[in-house]
Amino acid sequence: MNSEVPDPRLHSLVEGIVRIASGDLSTRIPHSGARDDVAAVIAGINLMADDLQTIYQELEERVESRTAMLRQAQVELERMALTDPLTQLANRTALNSVLSHALAETSRGELPPALLILDLDSFKGINDTLGHSAGDDVLRVIARRLQDAVRVTDTVARLGGDEFAVMLPKSNLVRARRVANRILKALSESLDIGDLRITCGTSIGVRVAEPGQSVDDLVMEADTAMYAAKAQPHSGIKVFEPALLYARRLQSLMVTEMREAILHDQLTLHYQPVVELATGRIEGVEALVRWNHPERGLLMPDQFIPLAEETGMIVELGHWVLRNAVRQLRDWQDRLPLDSQFSVRVNISTTELQNLELIEHVQDILRETGVDAANLIIELTESMAVTGGDVDKYSLSGLRQLGVQLEIDDFGTGYSSISYLRRLPVNVVKIDRSLIAGLGTDEEQGRFVEAVLHLIHACGLKAVAEGIETAEQAEELVRLGCGSGQGYYFGRPAPAESFEETLAQWSAVSE
Ligand code: C2E
Ligand code: CA
Ligand code: CA
Repeated sequence: MNSEVPDPRLHSLVEGIVRIASGDLSTRIPHSGARDDVAAVIAGINLMADDLQTIYQELEERVESRTAMLRQAQVELERMALTDPLTQLANRTALNSVLSHALAETSRGELPPALLILDLDSFKGINDTLGHSAGDDVLRVIARRLQDAVRVTDTVARLGGDEFAVMLPKSNLVRARRVANRILKALSESLDIGDLRITCGTSIGVRVAEPGQSVDDLVMEADTAMYAAKAQPHSGIKVFEPALLYARRLQSLMVTEMREAILHDQLTLHYQPVVELATGRIEGVEALVRWNHPERGLLMPDQFIPLAEETGMIVELGHWVLRNAVRQLRDWQDRLPLDSQFSVRVNISTTELQNLELIEHVQDILRETGVDAANLIIELTESMAVTGGDVDKYSLSGLRQLGVQLEIDDFGTGYSSISYLRRLPVNVVKIDRSLIAGLGTDEEQGRFVEAVLHLIHACGLKAVAEGIETAEQAEELVRLGCGSGQGYYFGRPAPAESFEETLAQWSAVSE
């Protein structure tokens, strides 16, 4: 071969190498079938191109699958960010986003969304007593019932704790009320947790959005309506009205003030004697709380206890009362010649009974002061003892186990069913002053009270009459066989110091 003439295969070799180098991996260099050096190089390059192409394809597949995984992870993350993990409902963020979407549509002429905010009434008690996992079960059941009660286009969200929300797009007040009623009914049905059957009432605030309203305002107003719903004694539904905002502001001011009052000892206890009717001997006292308000003067319990109960402040307030009443008793035991039976009575409310810390708190105070549990009498109302769920029963038996005495207060105003009185874990029954009022003047009332006393004694319980204002009433009660009594006739509620004087006078007389 003439060395002056270049081998034509060299040209296509160079061209092929350039194409492969530029990324065109499918390029193959043609070869003539000759068996020389050039042919060997061409075969080598083609093999290399094969390898490169395979490697490249694998790489591409790997990148694709990784990208798909990443995309899926991102979707999952987004879902998690918008879902409540416990109930799988929408969370607050998700609710806010559907609300802002619905509100934007309203400004374009669509019907406004309605927002329902719900709070379970006795959830804390369930959680405290039965444990968190039972509490979680309850929340999951409630979540399912909520979803069953609304349309698929509605959004059900859990806002945290035992608070839920339902958003109805393109709604109106009539529909919102109807849905609220349906929810109320669905949730009022009892649910089985383990081998316990419980009912968990709910309060629902309803607000149909105003044109131009922000998400925050809508939520705040539905929330305000929910608080108002909680405060009313029956029907758990309240539709928002502007006056509620004012009431709420006033309430939150009172709550702040009440917290201050507890911290800065603006609360004070007055003590009213409880006497043995036959002899007039002072058996003990009932502690009654008052609030020395810096601007409004001395406030009586009916002016602040209901609010304290509504807002949960009653738990702190109750702890304060219990602690101070028992400490006062200890102080008297140390300084005065009290007999060993002398007892102090403390009132507790439903909310306190549902708080599991109550037992521990009572135990701590008794231990701290060294006061014998038998010298503490806890007063609770009839309805608390009768209608209470498992939580209340647990608290009551816990208190009994400590050795504390339990007393039914205001007996005769509530259920007064004969059958339950035997079953209740109580020691004493206090006959309400409305039954005592007619005594001494109304003969029939005398017979009625006599029957009530028989009933109490037949159940093996002790009786105390309250609201005794006259000597006639006291005498009549002695005649009817009532053991103890309390009322203005024997002494009004008074600060500890004045009670000490009363006690000293009595000791002087009896000596
Ligand atoms: P209650 O437990 O029935 O307490 C008796 C109330 O009757 C007291 O009113 C007392 O001053 C009043 N009273 C006593 N003797 C007579 C009488 O002869 N005639 C008349 N007309 N009234 C008499 P107070 O102190 O205003 O207490 C009202 C209610 O507030 C109490 O009713 C009790 O349910 C609640 N309360 C008081 N202190 C506490 C407390 O520390 N915690 C809780 N949870 N509730 C309390
Ligand atoms: Ca009482
Ligand atoms: Ca009473």
